[in-house]
Amino acid sequence: MKKYTLECLHCGARYEDDSFRLKCDIDHKPSLLRTVYSNKKLTVRENQIGMFKFMDFLPVSRVIQNKGAPVTYKSERLSKILGLKNLYIIFNGYWPEKKAMIYTASFKELEAPSVLARVPEDNTNTIVVASAGNTGRAFANICSINNIPLVLVIPETSIAEIWSSRPFNDCVKLILASAGSDYLDAITLASKITEFEGFFPEGGEANVARRDGMATTVLDAGHKIGQIPDHYFQAVGSGTGGIAAWESALRLAEDGSYGTNHMKLHLAQNYPFTLMTDAWKLREKNLPNWDEHESKEKIRQINAIVLSNRRPPYSITGGVFDTLSASNGQMYSVTNREAEEAMELFEQQEGCDLHPASGIALGALFQAVKNQQVGKDEIIVLNATGGGEGRFKRDFHLHYLPPFAKLTDKEINSQEAAKKIESVLKNI
Ligand SMILES: *Cc1c(COP(=O)(O)O)cnc(C)c1O
Ligand SMILES: [Zn+2]
Repeated sequence: MKKYTLECLHCGARYEDDSFRLKCDIDHKPSLLRTVYSNKKLTVRENQIGMFKFMDFLPVSRVIQNKGAPVTYKSERLSKILGLKNLYIIFNGYWPEKKAMIYTASFKELEAPSVLARVPEDNTNTIVVASAGNTGRAFANICSINNIPLVLVIPETSIAEIWSSRPFNDCVKLILASAGSDYLDAITLASKITEFEGFFPEGGEANVARRDGMATTVLDAGHKIGQIPDHYFQAVGSGTGGIAAWESALRLAEDGSYGTNHMKLHLAQNYPFTLMTDAWKLREKNLPNWDEHESKEKIRQINAIVLSNRRPPYSITGGVFDTLSASNGQMYSVTNREAEEAMELFEQQEGCDLHPASGIALGALFQAVKNQQVGKDEIIVLNATGGGEGRFKRDFHLHYLPPFAKLTDKEINSQEAAKKIESVLKNI
């Protein structure tokens, strides 16, 4: 029996995985695929490295070197302040005292190993990843350790985000979209590169390995707590982590040892960039029509830049709207100020620095407690999607990845781009 198949959430078509499939072949409206595992029982394999202890629920046929995994623990001090009896933190980052060993300090490092291990070892093509920061750092580190070729495309303004405690291996090539470019320009450039022979796209939310990798957060929580949580809090930019959390809860329910699934998703955005929050509050399946100028102006005002995705998978079948509907979920708008207060309180009470995005999630939890949207005895999990970056930078000397090539935003959008990119890539 095959370990898993891929199922289209719109038409139910099933596919055997060829390691690269991102969508259904049938011509219908856009839809995600979902992994269906033949074995419904979750066995946590403590002898495997890092997140591969959850490999039963990962669409991979091999494991690669990695150290990081989510670490769920029960909060004592913060929970007391909030008056909650069962608050658990799913910590994704660097915190040695808790054995949290995600060296790139965010849950993006749960995507990279599973995406890369889904690709067969004898594959000779190069994966292309576009990122504004955390995803790029995670892929650059994991590819470097495993000697897997990578073309990473980022806006020049994110260059300081690509660091490691070890020098990068040259299998990792960094291409910059020059100043004036943003994350969308990097995506445009990356998609041009994937059209050349020998390169393939990572796929973002459409890649089941990315979602199932992020889903290990809720598998870890369920396993530690012994049941499916009642409430799940996370800050979202694309919402992929929220979709993955829900898919994970469905799998735990099918396992049968974790109770029934009534997990409610509480997803938060950074005010004023509240694209999905605005839509969901109106129960609107389409996102508001902000023009580029308006979007960029709002993005300029937020501290948690990782939450600034302008094209999140919200309306697609199986996307954020459908997931919120299925979980009877809620969305929040959290200000920079609320997030800063939350981060400060967390560091004081729990003892580790948080990523600004985790501050947004905690700010949402404060709102929910204040408005009595969660019960004092209910099981609440907070996905701290990033943390310990400050601590890591104090503990280690950092190496940065030198750029291999740089293209201006004019070049990216021009006819000549293809030629220039091709000549650059010939050297890889
Ligand atoms: C990417 C990221 C998020 C948002 O995750 P999505 O589920 O993709 O929206 C939140 N926090 C951190 C630290 C991130 O890097
Ligand atoms: Zn289909």
